[in-house]
Amino acid sequence: MRFSDLPTRLPLDFLIAPVRAVGARPRAPTLARHAAALLLLPAKPSVADWLALPHGGLIQDVFRLKPRKPGDFFVLRVGARAETLLTVAVGASQMSAFEQLQALGKAARALLETEPRTLLLWQQGMPKEPAAGALVAAVAALQAGAFALPAFKSAAPARTRLARIDIAAGARPDGLERAMASAAGNNLARWLTALPPNRLDAGAYRGHLRDFARRLGMRFQFYGERELKRLGAGAFLAVARGNAARDAGIVRLSYRPRRAAALDLCLVGKGICFDTGGTNLKPHKSMLDMHTDMEGSAVALGSLYALHALRSRTNVDCWLAISENRIGPTAYQPQEIVRAHNGTTIQVIHTDAEGRMVLADTLSLAAATAPRAIIDYATLTGACVHALTERYSGAFTNRLETRAAIEGAGAASGERVWCFPMDADFDSDLESTVADIMQCALEGKGDHILAARFLNRFVPKEIPWLHLDLAAGTRHGGLAHIGTDITGFGVRYTLDLLDRGWPRTAPHA
Ligand SMILES: [Zn+2]
Repeated sequence: MRFSDLPTRLPLDFLIAPVRAVGARPRAPTLARHAAALLLLPAKPSVADWLALPHGGLIQDVFRLKPRKPGDFFVLRVGARAETLLTVAVGASQMSAFEQLQALGKAARALLETEPRTLLLWQQGMPKEPAAGALVAAVAALQAGAFALPAFKSAAPARTRLARIDIAAGARPDGLERAMASAAGNNLARWLTALPPNRLDAGAYRGHLRDFARRLGMRFQFYGERELKRLGAGAFLAVARGNAARDAGIVRLSYRPRRAAALDLCLVGKGICFDTGGTNLKPHKSMLDMHTDMEGSAVALGSLYALHALRSRTNVDCWLAISENRIGPTAYQPQEIVRAHNGTTIQVIHTDAEGRMVLADTLSLAAATAPRAIIDYATLTGACVHALTERYSGAFTNRLETRAAIEGAGAASGERVWCFPMDADFDSDLESTVADIMQCALEGKGDHILAARFLNRFVPKEIPWLHLDLAAGTRHGGLAHIGTDITGFGVRYTLDLLDRGWPRTAPHA
């Protein structure tokens, strides 16, 4: 592959491998037709389980070589000519969703190292419901592990792509379609986030989004600098000023499965393609990975993609704030006063708090379309990472009575979130003597909460709103079933949350 041939088009055609149901319990000849297979077993298989398994005696011998506990896996070769590489994952139905994904992620990656073209997946000995959950989690892990992020090595060996997963489960397990759609959305989000900043500047990102809308039959609108000036989006434009190419703007993608119905949901994302910190420049190590500062927008897009793939009946608009945050003679500076789209005047304190500036106007524009709910995604604050590490993301909502659903979706999807307080009295920390509000406080304490209070000014209280500060967006060594540092955290979470009917509160909650 030459450098010029490298990924320039969204990989929508191969985000995930198709899954085929191949009947119930496999026999030895079915297994022999696969070069790779993943078997899920309980922690203590019964005698009947060993008898039911093809090559059960051999698998049992290896199983018994040492004590096995839930989460373990082992690899062996089976078949007359040892033709099948079999990975056996133990006890996957007896863990939390997060632990299950983490364990199956490790097992899946061990199996995928051999780059099989097809593989067989089945379980033996689990009760029906946990079995379906474990199989579906295994599919999620395989789809994540098999997807290659963009790489730019001039002499990279050709890689065999996983072309199909065969499930021997009698029928397609419950939840499979949602897991597939989530995996595709997550892979898309990670692919975009991994692109280097000279491959994904604001202009290139807009091109990808236009391509996305065209291929999926959605409406694409772009609010460029001139249009945003007319709309009075001064907070976004302050950040955009440092872009030499003058190509920053807000992209709106519209998915309308029910043409005449009201708008149900806006997904809003922070898309800072590279964050230098601006005039308040970041030091070397803090700046290094700032090409990932557009991950919030990629997760919003991945969630939209997943809803589209599921043919969701939800009318959704996706609002993406696309800019870079640069230094330079035209870049915005501390102590500027700017006026946002909703009329609020903002005293700029620190140019590296650019995320809340671009989101302020994007949320305000989205709110003006009167959706039933808004969810926004942003790699927003270091304070959130300090509070939670990269294992959880922070959740903030103007409907705290829905906290059980918000945190429950995190536990069930394996993408865990924690609700922070957002009481109104925090606002006094953002009081300005010269404007309506300060962009941030001088000290960093509780900055994730203050950022949420700042954003709250741009969402009318009538609209249920969830703000996700993506502390878990990147983590060294990955998270749950995701093996790459870029986690794409949020797509699985969003589908689970919407499935719970959020923001509607359950009558008994
Ligand atoms: Zn920043």
